[in-house]
Amino acid sequence: MRKTQTLRLTRQRSIILQELQNLKTHPNADEIYEIVRKDIPRISLGTVYRNLEILSDIGQIQKLELGGTVKRFDGNTENHYHIRCVHCNKIVDASMDLIKDLEKNLNGNSGFTILDHRLEFLGICRDCEESLSNLEEEIAKPM
Ligand SMILES: [Zn+2]
Ligand SMILES: [Zn+2]
Repeated sequence: MRKTQTLRLTRQRSIILQELQNLKTHPNADEIYEIVRKDIPRISLGTVYRNLEILSDIGQIQKLELGGTVKRFDGNTENHYHIRCVHCNKIVDASMDLIKDLEKNLNGNSGFTILDHRLEFLGICRDCEESLSNLEEEIAKPM
């Protein structure tokens, strides 16, 4: 690979990283692509995918592979918990401290050396709750 090419890749990667760190929405690759395209109009979706994989391999971002069907990315690499809306799959950070005892309780009887843990809460976000209750009212209305 020529030097100019390497430099371009590095620049693309750092823009992807910056955009992701600015977001609190845990976007998927397609959403990140749409955002990064504003900075780098000629970037391809494949390049965004590849860079996201590299960034998560080298530990600069977190890949969220929990219950949701679409892979999402998080610019915050500190372990923290998430809440996912079961209706629209929106993911937000759960505002709570890590439960250290969770790992302590498991060590010794699982046959594993526990390194870390992930925790995802499931719920219905306010937006979905509102649209669902509107829908219920709609259904309940006499014809
Ligand atoms: Zn929702
Ligand atoms: Zn998060």
